[in-house]
Amino acid sequence: MISVNNRALLDMPISEFIISSEKVAHVQSGNSAEHALLVLTKTGYSSIPVLDMKYRLQGLLSTKMITEAILGLERIEYEKLSDIRVEEVMDPAVVYLKLSDTFQRALDLVINHAFLCVVDEDGTFVGIMTRRIILKQLKKYIYQHNA
Ligand code: AMP
Repeated sequence: MISVNNRALLDMPISEFIISSEKVAHVQSGNSAEHALLVLTKTGYSSIPVLDMKYRLQGLLSTKMITEAILGLERIEYEKLSDIRVEEVMDPAVVYLKLSDTFQRALDLVINHAFLCVVDEDGTFVGIMTRRIILKQLKKYIYQHNA
């Protein structure tokens, strides 16, 4: 049975585990779906953050959201891509972390999300925290405290 004094880990601030915004692929809400599909395909990520011109978080966009929007009855209507804006197809109901949140909140939320966007007190996007980072940190902590 794993036994750790886990309060120390759960209370840790998330700030040191964030992939900072300049390393995160994103699109802007006014971009075309064509541009967004290009970014998603080239980066290989299935979902990326959508930001406005002031770097505020607007939603998440996945390849599936774009392909569903251009799915015709008998074929995929690629010609529609340039007319569709990201804001029309993104999911605006994004679950996010605040910079002041602790590891515990991140742990609770990553159960249902592969990554979480992080915003500062002004709502500005500062980066993401991935399930991979959280699991790595959890593993390190458990191994260190059960050696
Ligand atoms: P990973 O844990 O690296 O497999 O990442 C999980 C998910 O987080 C990816 O599928 C992406 O949706 C997102 N993600 C991770 N790193 C980045 C990044 N640098 N830019 C944009 N999205 C990312």
